[in-house]
Amino acid sequence: MSNHGFSTKALHVGNKPDESTGAVSPPIYQTSTYVQSSPGKHKGYEYSRTHNPTRSRLQECLSSLENAKHCMVTSSGMSTTHIIMQCIPKGATVICGDDIYGGTFRLFNTVIDHEYNFIFTDTTDTEATIKLVKEKKPALLWLESPTNPLLKISDIVALTEASNQVNAVSVVDNTFMSPYFQKPLDLGATITYHSMSKYINGHSDVVAGAAMTNDSELYDKMLYFQNSIGPNQSPFDSWLVLRGVKTLAVRMDKHEENAMEVAKYLESHPLVEKVTYPGLTSHPQHDIAKSQMSGFGGMITFFIKGGIENSRLFLENVSLFVLAESLGGVESLIEHPAIMTHASIPKAEREKIGLTDNLIRLSVGIEDLKDLIEDLDNGFAACK
Ligand SMILES: *Cc1c(COP(=O)(O)O)cnc(C)c1O
Repeated sequence: MSNHGFSTKALHVGNKPDESTGAVSPPIYQTSTYVQSSPGKHKGYEYSRTHNPTRSRLQECLSSLENAKHCMVTSSGMSTTHIIMQCIPKGATVICGDDIYGGTFRLFNTVIDHEYNFIFTDTTDTEATIKLVKEKKPALLWLESPTNPLLKISDIVALTEASNQVNAVSVVDNTFMSPYFQKPLDLGATITYHSMSKYINGHSDVVAGAAMTNDSELYDKMLYFQNSIGPNQSPFDSWLVLRGVKTLAVRMDKHEENAMEVAKYLESHPLVEKVTYPGLTSHPQHDIAKSQMSGFGGMITFFIKGGIENSRLFLENVSLFVLAESLGGVESLIEHPAIMTHASIPKAEREKIGLTDNLIRLSVGIEDLKDLIEDLDNGFAACK
């Protein structure tokens, strides 16, 4: 299958018809345990915390989409993060982007903060970050690109090369691009990370995480910790993601097509101070985006004129854009990071990185474009 295209792999790898019945849709192996013919003699499955055939199918499919040898699937993006951190020696230095998912920030800053020496830095400054990596020799470089919610883009090739030179593990949180638009392992990263709760599953009905790698030793460690800590993905949720990922390519193309038009509409609107979308030439890292991504995705951040008051009025008066946390579902979502997803970051920290009270984040869905624009028009019409 390795020479097949993306959608062919998404549909067929891990999706072979069931051998015992011929069922085309893969079975949900809703079992905790497996029969043994003699003590210790089994078919590769002993207990579902460790392995489950539905989860194995999903892992096989996802590996093929990121051009990876291995994939670990867990019950949430955050549990995947926690497991990756278990593989990093305690006391080590970790260099991490300064604009990251709020939950990642919370884990690093309030749960395992005493276990590592975290250095948060603006990784869009390539030269300064390379210098820091050479000087501090971290055990881990954690990049999110594009970032949530500011859509900052880091030079993955240059930064992972620097981290490889000091034998650091590099992780790229690829949640916003999905494997369809960006393949960090091909760009030099050790691990590609996904919250599959977002685009990979794509239907806002599952929480799940995944890490892909070509490093077999590291993968064995991750599996050891997954089994020891226990955040295993259920058979049913594995099956839902296996189904969701089949349409990833067509969904991502439509998300992007709509997002590009919405971004242009926002950029020309008098009540908008600034729009951030990697596909706009006004994006500060537009050139890097073009070089390492094959598309620009469906996430847009914009700053509305009139501060918190207009933010609130706008959010209360759109209806197709559902006011909710999360992103990457087929339906359009809208949210206010300072109050909602990123409230766990102290206000002073937020303002320092530009996460202000007039910032609104859109996850542009796959609805008809004219309806989305009309909805946004209604939001602006209610503003002062
Ligand atoms: C949602 C998200 C996570 C965390 O994943 P969960 O599945 O919610 O645990 C991590 N990184 C990014 C960029 C996210 O958007």
